[in-house]
Amino acid sequence: MNFLEERIVKDGVVKPGNVLKVDSFLNHQIDISLMDEIGREFHRRFQDKPITKVLTIETSGIAIAYPVAREFGVPVVFAKKSKSINLDGDMYVAEVESFTHKNKNQVIVSKRFLSPEDHVLIVDDFLANGCALQGLISIAEASGATVEGLGIAIEKGFQIGGRVIRNLGYPLESLAIVDGMDPEKGTIQFRQQD
Ligand code: 5GP
Repeated sequence: MNFLEERIVKDGVVKPGNVLKVDSFLNHQIDISLMDEIGREFHRRFQDKPITKVLTIETSGIAIAYPVAREFGVPVVFAKKSKSINLDGDMYVAEVESFTHKNKNQVIVSKRFLSPEDHVLIVDDFLANGCALQGLISIAEASGATVEGLGIAIEKGFQIGGRVIRNLGYPLESLAIVDGMDPEKGTIQFRQQD
């Protein structure tokens, strides 16, 4: 088991409805040392790519994006969830359905912060059905930037997102892939990775 898998086993809680709660260290209370280790690990995996921006989605993606961006020495850009229907033409817009809240949000990124010269690493805390990542990919591509790769802390391998993104041909690295969880026993099975 790698460092993140070990932490999930120690402090993660399996909830009914295919939800893994990791709010004591990843997305509510945040363990800064763990985040720094995640930053170093994604840097190691993508260091041969000419990354100029780390792109994520608010809120919990920001905590992952920050240490990754620090390792690369580049800015974080995060897509904002917007309630406004009167968006002006200065924004890239994508529609994203939330797995946890079951609602749809428009997410926006200012055109000032992504351009065709950019080489983007997209990161997020979870990958479930892939809506969040597909929204971020469509924003990056609308800007003309190159999507160099995607980095996910926890992929739920029994949901469709990982397969969809890999089939589209994007390099996707997930630090932990959960292939099964049992809410009654509280057990978690991880996919064996190299
Ligand atoms: P997707 O768009 O891939 O269906 O879902 C990704 C988003 O849903 C992530 O940004 C994450 O915030 C949230 N999410 C999906 N599954 C889980 C889960 O099991 N636990 C938690 N805490 N968040 C999840």
